[in-house]
Amino acid sequence: MHVISELSQLLFPTRCYGCNAIGISICSNCRREWHPHYYLTHIQGLRVNSAILYSPTASRIILAAKENGLKGADELIIEAIVHVLNSANFGKHNVRLVPIPSSANNRRRRGRSFIPDLCNEISKRTSIPVIPALQILRKVQDQSTLSAKARASNMHGAFGIAENIYPRGDVILIDDIVTTGATVSEAARALNAHGFRVLGSVTACLAQPLR
Ligand SMILES: [Zn+2]
Repeated sequence: MHVISELSQLLFPTRCYGCNAIGISICSNCRREWHPHYYLTHIQGLRVNSAILYSPTASRIILAAKENGLKGADELIIEAIVHVLNSANFGKHNVRLVPIPSSANNRRRRGRSFIPDLCNEISKRTSIPVIPALQILRKVQDQSTLSAKARASNMHGAFGIAENIYPRGDVILIDDIVTTGATVSEAARALNAHGFRVLGSVTACLAQPLR
């Protein structure tokens, strides 16, 4: 067993998710950039709580988790979101986590629903239940190259409420990153319109929007 794990380290050495350096899953340099803090911003009246300022390092960590399904990178994002949930002090009575769902295309391509998957683990660690209340109603574009205005119209009316999701009540939205807030504000709008009360949103990363 020992020999096998040493052999696999030789063939597939552990690399830093941030910079690809051989060694551990996050090196000390990247750890300085990916070190959970607590940032509170307000986007269209929604409290957005985040752990990490977006950077090229953060972008590589998120891609490693989202697109390559690397468990160590998942772990960094889970850890960041749990840190914020513990810092934000939402109060844990009758609050539930609502993950931002993945589109059917992304689900198929990645073999899983990224944020809903992470949410299950976050729920285990925080004892806050998950309620998969949101569904995507129509095709949305990848947002990464869109301006703030284009993102808002891209997301407008994109979310609906899944069937048989009861009871309604207090919820916290969970996503990997917030930029303009188009996704979380649209999700909050849909939930609030259907009898939920969105207390805020928690994301691993906080990015500066494109102008
Ligand atoms: Zn690194």
